[in-house]
Formats: sequence, C-alpha cells, structure tokens
Amino acid sequence: MEFDTIAAISTPSGEGAIAIVRLSGPEAISIADRLFRAPSGKNLADQATHTIHYGHLENPWTEEVVEEVMVSFMKGPKTFTREDVIEINCHGGIVSVNRVLQLVLRAGARLAEPGEFTKRAFLNGRIDLSQAEAVMDLIRAKTDRAMDVALGQMEGRLSKLIGTLRQALLESIAQMEVNIDYPEYDDVEEMTRPMMLEKAKWVQAEIDKLLQTSSQGKILREGLSTVIVGRPNVGKSSLLNSLVQENKAIVTEIAGTTRDIIEEYVNVRGVPLRLVDTAGIRETEDIVERIGVERSRKVLKEADLILYVLNYAEELTEEDALLFEAVKGMNYIVVVNKTDLPRKIDMEQLQRLAGDKLMVTTSLIEEEGIDQLEQAIADLFFEGEIEAGDMTYVSNARHISLLHQAHQTISDAIAAAEMDVPVDMIQIDVTRTWEILGEIIGDTADDGLLNQLFSQFCLGK
Ligand code: GDP
Ligand code: ZN
Repeated sequence: MEFDTIAAISTPSGEGAIAIVRLSGPEAISIADRLFRAPSGKNLADQATHTIHYGHLENPWTEEVVEEVMVSFMKGPKTFTREDVIEINCHGGIVSVNRVLQLVLRAGARLAEPGEFTKRAFLNGRIDLSQAEAVMDLIRAKTDRAMDVALGQMEGRLSKLIGTLRQALLESIAQMEVNIDYPEYDDVEEMTRPMMLEKAKWVQAEIDKLLQTSSQGKILREGLSTVIVGRPNVGKSSLLNSLVQENKAIVTEIAGTTRDIIEEYVNVRGVPLRLVDTAGIRETEDIVERIGVERSRKVLKEADLILYVLNYAEELTEEDALLFEAVKGMNYIVVVNKTDLPRKIDMEQLQRLAGDKLMVTTSLIEEEGIDQLEQAIADLFFEGEIEAGDMTYVSNARHISLLHQAHQTISDAIAAAEMDVPVDMIQIDVTRTWEILGEIIGDTADDGLLNQLFSQFCLGK
C-alpha cells in the first residue's frame, strides 16, 4: 500500500516544555531535509536510522531561521507506522509549534486526520485493531491502573485470547464441515456434536469471564461514582477537600454552588473516584434546596460507592436513620467525623444501623483517619480480586458490545446442538461467532467501521 506523507503536532497543546511535530510517509525524510540544517551540514538521509540530530529549521523560501530543534530520524519499517518517520522536537509554545507545522505542510506534507498515524500502523500490519483502540484508550486514560489496562491490551493480551477462542471455533467449524461433506458416516456425526458442544461451552465461558471484567473496566476509565452524603455540617465538603488534597486530583469540575453538586476526580490508591458532594438528603420546603435534594437522590441511585458522613459530637437523629434507609442495599462506608470533639453519638445504635458495613472514624480538622478511609475504599474495590494486574480487562464499549453479540450467537449454537438441530444449522451460529470475535481484532472489519474508529483518535496519534 502506498500513502502520502502526513504530519501533525503529536503532543497535547499547551502542555510541557517540548512539543513534537511528527511526520510519516515516503516523503518524510526529504521534506525534513528541505527544512533542517545541521551544524555538520549533513542531510538526514545520509545519517544512520534511529538517531537524533540537533540543528535549525530554515524557511527555504525566505532562508530565515525558524526554530532551534532536535530531529529524530527513523527509517521504516521499524517505526510505529512502519513508514519513514521524522519527529521534530521544538519549544513547546503554541506559536512556535504551529510555525513548524505550517512549514512542514508547505514543504509537502499533508495535515494528518485524527488517528491517522495509528490507522497507518494498523493498515501496514504493525498492530491489530484492538491494539489500535488501546492506543486511543491510552491517550484518554485517567489513572495509572487504567493505563495498565490499556497497556496490557496494547501488548495484545485481549487479541491473543480472542485469537485462541477463534481458533477453537475454527476447529469446530472444520469438524462440522467434514460432517456435512460426509453425511453417510454416522460415527462422524456422533463425534462432532459432543466435541463441538465442549468447545462452544468453553468459548461461552471465556466470553462470560471477559464480560464480567467489563464493568470494572468502565469504572477504571470513568472513575467509581462516589457520593458523599450526610446531614448539613457533618463535614462532607471537608471530606471532599481532604481526599482531593491528599490525592492527585485528576480533573476538576465544579458544577454550581454549595446548594448544588460538586464533582472532583481523584485517584485513591489506584482506585479512580469521581467524588460527588451532595446538598444532603432531607425533606424541605425551600424550593431551591429541593432541587439540590432531588438531584442528590438521583445521584445516590447512580452511585457505585457512598461515603456516609456522621457527626461524632452529635446524637443520631431521625434524619440519620432516614439516610440509612436511603442507602440500604448500596455499597457504602460509614465515616464518623469530628472525633476531636466530645462524643455524643450512640456508637451501639450506630453499629446496629450500619450492620456489617465498613466504619471509619475521622477528625478531618486534625487530619486523622483519612488513611484508614482510603484503605477501606481500596479494600472494597479490590476485594476478592487476587491479581488485578494480570486480568484481561475489557473496557472499550465496542468490544463489550461485540462480546455480548458473540455470547448470544454461541449460546444459540449450544442450544441448537443440545436440541439435535442438524449440524449445518449449528455451523451458521458458530461461524457467526467467529466473525463477530474477528471484528474485535479487526479481522473482518470493513472500511466504514475503520474510518469511524480512527476518526475518534486524537490528532497526531
Ligand atoms: P458539610 O456541610 O457536611 O459539607 O460540612 P463542612 O465540611 O462544611 O463542615 C462543617 C463545619 O465542620 C466546618 O466549620 C468544618 O470546619 C467543621 N469540621 C469539619 N470536620 C471537622 C472535624 O473533624 N472536627 C471539627 N471539630 N470540626 C470539623
Ligand atoms: Zn458542604
């Protein structure tokens, strides 16, 4: 396949002191040589591959020096796209990066479409589709753990497993083919059915396992929706602030006022949390407050985790009991705050209300108990999970949807086989499963799908 030469800024704008303009394609080296001047006077084309060179970019039309740069020179096929690749490292300011990009475009490169570098890597056989999508997830990954998942996928863990499943299906299909071609051999039929059933059930179970990890994958990407509830003044906002201060805030989104809902993204011991501080749940006549309360209820319903804050220095009220009602059956941790003050809360009564839920005491003002709370959150999330790092997570929405489809078709095949449906009918469902799984790794994907996928990528990747 022959392509033209593409270029784009491949570092996020406004971040970092260094920015990279990347070129890929047959003209990448000659374009760079038109612009780049090394102190030695040597052309890049005459240099050894995979080397970095210091020099200046010169505008060949005005002979003006544009930028001081470091240029990485990489000849294909040992590059990300398998094409010749040039990376021009320049100073990070928007103005200078754009100047370099404009120059490169003027010298003959075409501005890359979003995801086009990755698309080339795919089309040139460098990576498969699920690996390409992993690159996209990597760009978006918000936490270290989400990054691990994306990296694992990029290394081909998911692809490998899917490949094994497809191989098993293919063996079944081949066996059924023999059966269809030689219907006179009854013993072939007798062998085919149990063998096919066994393989199909194994594939079904593996897909099941993958789907079970998918909700966790989503959580890793979007953060565990964590709602902080409790009566006014117990320390909800203080708790949110402590967690944000102690942990790297990932994104900050402040929605509305104190009456409304405040959201913060933090990474607590590898668990990404989307923290929500509510206005508190209670019956009220105040119409403005009501909006806050109604929203709170909605947020509560959608929460993955609830941090229920109570005041150590006050007696339990009816409202507290109502809140225990509201969070019943949900995943929550009880936080008893203000332990620096004299105790008024009835711990026995509280213990009864909380049942077997985790309980942590804190004094947010004295910065005590936050560690224990963080540990409780991590324990809750990783509970029952032996080796989180070794799992094959599925977090990509398209993969999940395809896995659901594959699960359906393989289940149909199993049901048919158990009902003595003719083998050629069963083969249709097995083949369909094989095709659907192939779509995950891009084996049976058509052009429309590819374009849609790659257009989601960031520019320059
Ligand atoms: P919210 O209404 O539940 O969000 O509560 P805030 O976080 O706004 O806190 C209410 C008041 O309690 C503030 O004056 C805080 O400084 C105070 N407060 C929060 N945590 C503690 C604590 O651990 N000990 C004491 N003594 N005061 C606290
Ligand atoms: Zn508050």
